Amino acid sequence: MLSAGPELLAIPGPSVMPSRVMREFSRPMVDIYAGELVEITDEIERILPAVAGSSGHLFIAIGNGHAAWEMALTNTLSKDDRVLVVNCGVFAAVWGEMAAFMGVEVDRIDAEPGRASDPAEVGRVLAADREHTIKAVLTVQGDTASSARNDIPAIRRAIDEVNHPALLMVDTIASLGCEPFEMDAWGVDLVVAASQKGMMTPPGLGFNIVGERALAASARADLRTYYWDWTSRRDRSVYYKRFCGTPPVSHLFALREALRMIDEEGLAARYARHRVLAGAVHAAVEAWAASTDLRLNIADPAERCQSVTTITTGSVDAEAIRRICCERLGAVLGIGFADSSFRIGHMGHVNAPSVLAAVGAVETALHELGECIDQSGVAAATHHLAGVSAR
Ligand SMILES: *Cc1c(COP(=O)(O)O)cnc(C)c1O
Repeated sequence: MLSAGPELLAIPGPSVMPSRVMREFSRPMVDIYAGELVEITDEIERILPAVAGSSGHLFIAIGNGHAAWEMALTNTLSKDDRVLVVNCGVFAAVWGEMAAFMGVEVDRIDAEPGRASDPAEVGRVLAADREHTIKAVLTVQGDTASSARNDIPAIRRAIDEVNHPALLMVDTIASLGCEPFEMDAWGVDLVVAASQKGMMTPPGLGFNIVGERALAASARADLRTYYWDWTSRRDRSVYYKRFCGTPPVSHLFALREALRMIDEEGLAARYARHRVLAGAVHAAVEAWAASTDLRLNIADPAERCQSVTTITTGSVDAEAIRRICCERLGAVLGIGFADSSFRIGHMGHVNAPSVLAAVGAVETALHELGECIDQSGVAAATHHLAGVSAR
């Protein structure tokens, strides 16, 4: 009854797409050998790495984040190589499963539940690898399942302190465009990203942003396949080779428009917006925590993602919250990976009303479930957005 009207999508990807971006999908096809499309692709290859603070080379996979993972692994590794997976939730572990499937030996360190990864532990594992058999460290900036954010510069320092030559490869699929990332300054060798979260472009494009050391590794990597091989995709003489076949014409139009929007807003303003919106959601959960079992999954504010919030619900039925929000109110929240939890996505094309609507829907559901709310999460969120304390 209350759910007619525009649905609120508050899942952590795909995120809400700007109509400016969606309009690009209605444009007719163009020549794929010369002209506008080639210029647009050149522009994307110039601009997108800068969003990750990189002067590296961009390779675009026609596929999702998993495709970009596979492109990264096949181009840098050989069968029987070892990698160290630094996991703080779900996604780095799955990237590691993909490597294992290819015949790579995978060591993994898991963060404590509710925490980001411990860089000191990375240092300890690498220090013990005196023969330097570990070829790469695979990790995520933000884990979309747990909402933990890793300290990438600290992980780089841990690698450098033990003089280990492993490549540092970082999945920024859920964080690129939402929080600061400085690939060159932080010494990251390869960044994996995708279109459908902070980059505000529908699912279908994956990205590898590649530095010199990772490019050099690709000369020796025997897991390379004809389709994913960076070498032929780098051949500037034939545009068709950049995608190993027909380019994703409409997605390229759309991505170029999204990059324009990112440029118009400015990265610093974008990061500040995500920080304040995330803070509003966090403030709401902390208010609910005063009288209910709801808690932020990540206790330490410094270890929280700015693009997604995982909320554990204890004795409160997380699925009932999601069901009421979706079916009765028209707000779609993200499923939880762990038992009794759910997630609110706040990435990309989101603003104050978006997070207030999500928080308001959850609070309404809590009332319906008979929870006693001593401190309103909606009030806490509005105070946070107004820049004043609720107390
Ligand atoms: C969404 C996500 C993925 C998976 O991306 P797909 O496009 O679904 O393959 C991987 N890593 C992180 C951190 C993500 O948020």
